[in-house]
Amino acid sequence: MALGFSGVFGLVQLAQAQPDTVRIVLAIHGGAGTITRAQMTPEREQQYREALRQALQEGYAVLQAGGSSLDAVVAAIRVLEDSPLFNAGRGAVLNRDGVAELDATIMDGRTLKAGAVAGVQTVKNPILLARRVMEATPHVLLIGRAAEAFAQEQGLEIVPNEYFIVPERRLQLQRLREQGIGIVPEEASSTYGTVGAVALDRRGNLAAGTSTGGLMGKLPGRVGDSAIIGAGTYADNATCAVSTTGQGEYFIRGVVAHEIAALMKYASLSVQQAASAAIYGTLAGLGGQGGVIALDRNGQLAVVFNTEGMYRGYVDEHGHITIQIYRD
Ligand code: ASP
Repeated sequence: MALGFSGVFGLVQLAQAQPDTVRIVLAIHGGAGTITRAQMTPEREQQYREALRQALQEGYAVLQAGGSSLDAVVAAIRVLEDSPLFNAGRGAVLNRDGVAELDATIMDGRTLKAGAVAGVQTVKNPILLARRVMEATPHVLLIGRAAEAFAQEQGLEIVPNEYFIVPERRLQLQRLREQGIGIVPEEASSTYGTVGAVALDRRGNLAAGTSTGGLMGKLPGRVGDSAIIGAGTYADNATCAVSTTGQGEYFIRGVVAHEIAALMKYASLSVQQAASAAIYGTLAGLGGQGGVIALDRNGQLAVVFNTEGMYRGYVDEHGHITIQIYRD
């Protein structure tokens, strides 16, 4: 079976490999897409770096205090959902009708339990709701109005849809409309910003989570990979924890997050080889673009993307933080 992936190994050097000796305990991403130095101002870059740093610090504080990987993932993602810079929570992209519709998932690598929500419009932190679905219901995925009613029952913070909408997203939607661009995943790579986290705690438990507003100009009701366990999020203590970002339709069709775990489990690939195969092989083979962070049970991190850039960062077991944005 590994023979089928032999082409992948030549591509491994394109991935952002982490030093073999350092154990990573938390990694995050803030979306992949057309992110280049040319379109970034120093001030804006600083803002992104600050937000990513804060998310890593919050998540690391949980792990350092002996907390669970699930708690660390939620803590990190919450910071990014609350930041207007990212396409998750406040700052989410808008659907064709100018409404923010949010998706989120979380998965526990120890129990293989998972929770997800899709198309919610009024829940301030969708990652918290995904976790409630996992822990307080026998289900995995709740959608739309009913998910919002459940959030209310659970005492989660409810906000008007306007809370999520920042001026820049309105402008992006307007530009999309003016250009008459159809709502196709191919056009969405300029509105990056989905957020995700993977963590490994002291007990050796892995967890993963992802949160997004989806694709700019999407049809109302469209659900992306960030709401689908196995596509945008996966965690299994036996292999790895994965969060993806990019053109969700392709991640769903390639079942990308689960594929990485499956390649490790059944083809004995390393996390780096598996993530490279999934992105450069499966995703790119379908014509899709995006990226992935995947953390194995030994703390080895693979960060692989076939876009120009990806907001990303990680913290090692000594608390050392690294943040990167561009390909180089
Ligand atoms: N994967 C997300 C979606 O398709 C979007 C993104 O990651 O930017 O909903």
